Amino acid sequence: MLVGHSGEDVPNADPPFESLARAVLDSLAAHTAVLDTGGRVRTANHAWERFVAEHPNDAWRPPVGTGWFEALAAAGTDDTNRALAGARAVLDGSARAHHQDYPWTSPDGEQLWFALRIAPLATEAGGLVVSHTDISSRKRAETQLAHQALHDPLTSLPNRTLFLDRLAVSLARLERRSSKVAVLFLDLDRFKQVNDSLGHDTGDALLRALAGRLRGLLRPGDTAARFGGDEFTVLCEDLAGPQAALAIANRIARGLAQPFTLADHEAFLTASIGVALAAAPDTRPEALVRDADAAMYRAKQHGKDRAVLFDADMRASAVRRASLANELHLALDRDELRLLFQPAVDLRTARVMGAEALVRWQHPERGLLVPADWLDLAEDIGLLVPIGAWVLREACAAAATWPAGMGVAVNLSAQELARPDLATRVRDALHAAGLDPSRLSLEVTEHALMADPELSVHNLERVGRLGTRVAVDDFGTGASSLALLQRLPLGALKVDRSFVSRDDPTIVQAVVSLAHALGLSAVAEGVETAEQLEWVRAMRCDAAQGYLLGRPGPAECLTRDGPAVA
Ligand code: C2E
Ligand code: MG
Ligand code: MG
Repeated sequence: MLVGHSGEDVPNADPPFESLARAVLDSLAAHTAVLDTGGRVRTANHAWERFVAEHPNDAWRPPVGTGWFEALAAAGTDDTNRALAGARAVLDGSARAHHQDYPWTSPDGEQLWFALRIAPLATEAGGLVVSHTDISSRKRAETQLAHQALHDPLTSLPNRTLFLDRLAVSLARLERRSSKVAVLFLDLDRFKQVNDSLGHDTGDALLRALAGRLRGLLRPGDTAARFGGDEFTVLCEDLAGPQAALAIANRIARGLAQPFTLADHEAFLTASIGVALAAAPDTRPEALVRDADAAMYRAKQHGKDRAVLFDADMRASAVRRASLANELHLALDRDELRLLFQPAVDLRTARVMGAEALVRWQHPERGLLVPADWLDLAEDIGLLVPIGAWVLREACAAAATWPAGMGVAVNLSAQELARPDLATRVRDALHAAGLDPSRLSLEVTEHALMADPELSVHNLERVGRLGTRVAVDDFGTGASSLALLQRLPLGALKVDRSFVSRDDPTIVQAVVSLAHALGLSAVAEGVETAEQLEWVRAMRCDAAQGYLLGRPGPAECLTRDGPAVA
């Protein structure tokens, strides 16, 4: 009501209260109605009426003049029963209001969500105000957030959290079934190298393609998850036993063996797969995954690209490995690494021409450990590069104290070979020791070269420009291409010990001929007997190494002018 300046009432310019309330009600987007104490719809706003016109039989919003409670009771779902109980509680004063979110599916299948609010009508007669607000977009955002929290953004596969959750559910169900649950732990072989050489975008594309393929290889009820970087897990239920689980692992391995076609090239992937089964509901999900992980590690050790079933011994070795990893982290700081040097003998002069540096770990309790005991581990935990840097520095420093004619050979891992700063590190080590580059030789295995041939050539060419040569180690055991060898700054091919010990003339002769044809020298490894020495000499090897000629020993052995060999 307006009050005029004279203080008298002026005729009211506003609409009467009734129509004002009506206008307010109709302006609300929420479907809103006023009910009497018996639950009859006395009046409803436009939004409610429009909804009723489109969906005449909806239990949530009956037409004006009909009873809501009857409609809810007739629908009889958990949601409508809850709403009914809520409405009664508001009417009898035991609740101040009732709030409830409920899903609603339209006849054409669209899934919507509404927030229902029932409040008491503050009039003498009493009654209820009921409103339904469309909260579908908020719900969708919530669902999306929940999905993001439980899925890997790159592949959309379930993540570790969701996988462990589903595994817990599967394990709990075991009690009621006689079958078994299996976890497969997949770790891609050499994925880091693929990633480093093809670039991260291609690596990502490859992981996405792999995830898609993995899904396709599984039964509908199985769960595949991305556990971490290049680690995937698979959960299979209802298995008869280990053979069934291994069959799935092998099917996955075969499926992955098909090349992946990416935008501009084909890529090949293999995986090491560990398989662990549970038959008892008290198995902890994390423990089963850890067992599968230990079996996966065994698959890696046995040459990768295979599936291995978990057995209890692996648990002990996984524990040992974990403690060794902790200690290895400290080994460099605690100065526990040692370098031994094994002489190489020139077969024409019968004189020591240099030595190969071989790393050892002087473990405080376990004694002197050879590389086979821990070098793989160092690679897995990312310590190979710092250890390699230490070896390079120490080897150069030792060689600087030897007679000028003697060289030193240092073994390089595939990881070091792939590092863009390889040549820089070699140059720095030579510089620090004041060693002539021609006195250093780097040994790389065929396997390491072939892991990423282009990158190997690129990095080794730069080493070659310093004046340092490269020797191919364990030659004959891998599959390096001749075209590749020609592009490397090579100095020697080292005939693998296995050919020397087997007295295998065909291979040894072939390697020697190849070396000479390429202008390289041929070095025989692992010469243990006088007969073998005679034999490799007859095969025209230029140099030899082996226990007969000298075991790996401390650097001081080399400072005297090398002993002549018969
Ligand atoms: P490799 O480079 O082929 O080294 C030769 C291996 O054969 C050495 O084993 C050596 O002790 C052993 N050996 C030498 N002569 C004989 C023989 O007459 N009979 C037998 N049975 N064995 C002989 P080691 O020191 O255990 O090294 C094994 C492998 O570990 C090496 O093979 C090399 O690939 C790797 N390695 C050693 N030191 C390093 C290092 O500092 N860095 C890297 N990345 N790898 C290394
Ligand atoms: Mg070597
Ligand atoms: Mg070798």
